[in-house]
Amino acid sequence: MIGAGPAGLTAAIALAASGIETALVSKRPGRPDHRTTALLAGSVRALDTLGVWEHCAAHAAPLAAIRIIDDTRRLLRAPEVVFHAAEIGLDAFGHNIENRHLIAALDACAARLPQLTRIEDAAEAIEIEQGFANVRLASGSALAARLLVGADGRRSLCRAAAGIVTDAFAYRQSALTVNLRHARPHDDFSTEFHTQSGPFTLVPLPGARSSLVCVVEPREAERLAGLEDGALAAEIERRSHSILGKLEIEPGRGTFPLAAETARKLGAERVVLIGEAAHVLPPIGAQGLNLGLRDAATIAELATAARRRGGDPGCAELAGRYEAARRADVTSRAVAIDLLNRSLLSDFLPVQGARGLGLYLIDRIGPLRRALMREGVEPALSGPRLMRGEPL
Ligand SMILES: Cc1cc2nc3c(=O)[nH]c(=O)nc-3n(C[C@H](O)[C@H](O)[C@H](O)COP(=O)(O)OP(=O)(O)OC[C@H]3O[C@@H](n4cnc5c(N)ncnc54)[C@H](O)[C@@H]3O)c2cc1C
Repeated sequence: MIGAGPAGLTAAIALAASGIETALVSKRPGRPDHRTTALLAGSVRALDTLGVWEHCAAHAAPLAAIRIIDDTRRLLRAPEVVFHAAEIGLDAFGHNIENRHLIAALDACAARLPQLTRIEDAAEAIEIEQGFANVRLASGSALAARLLVGADGRRSLCRAAAGIVTDAFAYRQSALTVNLRHARPHDDFSTEFHTQSGPFTLVPLPGARSSLVCVVEPREAERLAGLEDGALAAEIERRSHSILGKLEIEPGRGTFPLAAETARKLGAERVVLIGEAAHVLPPIGAQGLNLGLRDAATIAELATAARRRGGDPGCAELAGRYEAARRADVTSRAVAIDLLNRSLLSDFLPVQGARGLGLYLIDRIGPLRRALMREGVEPALSGPRLMRGEPL
């Protein structure tokens, strides 16, 4: 396994916990990650099943409700819609956690598994031959594996070694991320303002804190990121219509150009791709890592079943089954996020009308509303066992 981001760590823990000898090769992260991740209910359940969530819980805030506010100031605007997790029998749609706490919890669990060997090194070259993936490391040593799980992010060496190409698209938008303290409580509500430059989303953190993902034009993101704390706080308070009262900026802002990228194949003989090595999504609707964790749970399940049957976990047939299990989930999320984002940017009146009507119908038609909520949180398309709370 190459890459110890959240997707790679989760897959490595799941594989090692089910008794498969696993080597996890990864460089140390270069700079601190101040971002947060909204983990949806299925992801939280999977991490709980793996014994990771107990180390996360104190650092995570529940998302009891999601509020969508049309702030486009256009002629045809959508009504405000609030989705409550209780409507589909859940306490929360998911939980929001700072990435540093999530990684620390995964690191702690990984350290306790005797079948998991961590190798702090970079993979430099990969060759697929004679039933093995052979990996040469920067230190000069080498490894051979029956199955290579590529969790090595958007510039994946594993993907290149398997000869897999991607379809990529760069949006003319960037996301500004920053964590905030605020005077008013968030009441466990995540609030998404739909603006003409993209979503502006406030997601609860424990206490009177929230994380912000603000999608704007790249130049505007740079301008905002360059403001001193007081000016940025005032700007965010204005854009959020003061719903959280007076704001204080925490250290660690980031800007992320919006991009979408999908691998044409999710696996080949000896190699499967998970997380951002397989798909990069814009940070809209909290889907990226949730998809990555479903990838991790799926490959761990397939490889464990193959091993128990005495089969080869790296054979082309298993890669095909992984592709079949994951493709629809990946494609449907990428298309939905792209459509939502484009409908906000569009000046075309019928598009604005369709978006408004869509939200109106979702708000009014109970069964449609509940079906959408369930699909958003726990997609029926892909149901790896870990997401259902079943150990492998
Ligand atoms: C602003 C923003 C907000 C987001 N919010 C959410 C959210 O709320 N919910 C959600 O689900 N998703 C969210 N995402 C998406 C989420 O952050 C990503 O999906 C996730 O971080 C990807 O994890 P990963 O493990 O696939 O890759 P990475 O975290 O990129 O990890 C890849 C790892 O591979 C290592 N590596 C790479 N090459 C090599 C090599 N040759 N040798 C050894 N190691 C190597 C790297 O060092 C790294 O450790 C957000 C993204 C952004 C940009």
